Amino acid sequence: MGSGGMVVMDETDCMVDIARFFLEFTVDESCGKCTPCREGTKRMLEMIERITEGKAEYEDLDRITSLADTISSTSLCGLGQTASTPVVSTMHYFFDEYQAHVVDKKCPALHCKELISFFIESTCIGCLRCKRECPVSCISGEVKERHVIDQTACIKCGNCFDVCPVSAITKS
Ligand code: SF4
Ligand code: SF4
Ligand code: SF4
Repeated sequence: MGSGGMVVMDETDCMVDIARFFLEFTVDESCGKCTPCREGTKRMLEMIERITEGKAEYEDLDRITSLADTISSTSLCGLGQTASTPVVSTMHYFFDEYQAHVVDKKCPALHCKELISFFIESTCIGCLRCKRECPVSCISGEVKERHVIDQTACIKCGNCFDVCPVSAITKS
């Protein structure tokens, strides 16, 4: 990526979010001299963010492709000319992931916060650990009883998932 380094990822890495990460870097680095890079990358980042939040429509995928062409062919220097590459490349090789976000409103890697939910399964032993670690106190339950997450209050921080000693919390 960029410097010639290699980035190793697995199925828990969301390729749309990876594209967002690299595009965010380009937006920060743009010097602002030319409009396609200065404004185009910002608009593209907004569209990618909408995809990771499950708010995009299918037509956004065509808009992104068209905007990528414009940015790469009209920017003044290499930064703008290659700014869209992570997006174009991930769309080419992982289009199914983009489709899942846009059409099914799902993140196959279970990475994008707005598109996942946490649930407590029947294997819960009622140890109270998740309840103590939840920053918004949206887990209820008594000791040695199955706990429950209030989905309307959960902010998807993942603390409960990380601390459960018996892996009774799943995300989907
Ligand atoms: S393409 Fe180059 S010159 Fe144009 S705004 Fe981006 S960094 Fe600046
Ligand atoms: S994901 Fe975070 S906010 Fe949601 S229930 Fe678990 S600890 Fe609480
Ligand atoms: S941490 Fe796991 S076992 Fe303990 S109460 Fe929460 S879900 Fe149940």
